[in-house]
Amino acid sequence: MKKIQVALDGPSGSGKSSLAKRLSRDLGLYYIDTGALYRAVGLYLKECGVTPEDVSAIEAALADCRVSFDFVDGAQRTMLDGRDVSGLIRTPEIAQWASKTSALPAVRALLLSVQRDFARENSVIMDGRDIGTTILPDAPLKIFLTASAEERARRRLKELLEAGQEIDFETVLREQKERDHRDETREISPLRRAEDAVLVDTTALDFEESYLALRRVIEERMEKL
Ligand code: C5P
Repeated sequence: MKKIQVALDGPSGSGKSSLAKRLSRDLGLYYIDTGALYRAVGLYLKECGVTPEDVSAIEAALADCRVSFDFVDGAQRTMLDGRDVSGLIRTPEIAQWASKTSALPAVRALLLSVQRDFARENSVIMDGRDIGTTILPDAPLKIFLTASAEERARRRLKELLEAGQEIDFETVLREQKERDHRDETREISPLRRAEDAVLVDTTALDFEESYLALRRVIEERMEKL
C-alpha cells in the first residue's frame, strides 16, 4: 500500500485527537499528536525555571531540549530526554505553557524535523495547527476540523473532569479563547486552514458522525493514491 499523510489541523477541542486515534487504529496509520510535542517543550521550559516571556533564556535553554516520541501498542508516548512525560503534559498549566511558547520561532524550529522526518517514512495522521500549511505542505490529504467555541469547551471540560481535574466551564472557555487567539494571531505558522484543506465542522455532529465523515474523506483519498 502507498504511504499517506493526513494533515489534520484545527483549534483546541475540535475533536482532532480522539477522532485521529480511532481513525489511525481502523485505517492502519500512525497517529501523531503534535500538540504533545509542544506541551513537552512547555514542561521542559517550566522545569528549567525560565518564564514564558523571557525569550533569550528560552532560546538558551532549548539547546539542551530533546523531545521525541515512540509508540507502545500503537499509542504515542512523548519523551523528554528519554523520560516518558505523556501523563505530566496533560494539565491546563502545561497547556498554557505550550500555547505561549509555541509562538516562538526557536520552539517551532526545534520540532519541525521531529515531525517531518517521521511523516516522510510512515503513513500518518498528524494532528496540529500548521501541519497542512507548514509541516507537510504536500500532504495528499489535508483536513481542517472545527466546531463552535462553546461546543469545544464543553468537550474539553468533560475530558478534564473525567481525568479528575477540578475546573469549571467558564475557566475552560476563557483559557481556550486565549489559546485560540494566540494560535491564530502569532506571526509564525498561525492556525489557519490550508487553501486545499477539506473543512469539517463538527458542532452539530456527535463522535460517531464525525468519525464517519472523516473516514469517508480519508478512504476516498487512499483509493486514489
Ligand atoms: O493540541 P494541544 O492543545 O495539545 O496543543 C497545545 C498547544 O500547542 C496549543 O495551544 C498550540 O498553541 C500549540 N500547538 C502548535 N502547533 C501544533 C500543535 C500544537 O502551536 N502543531
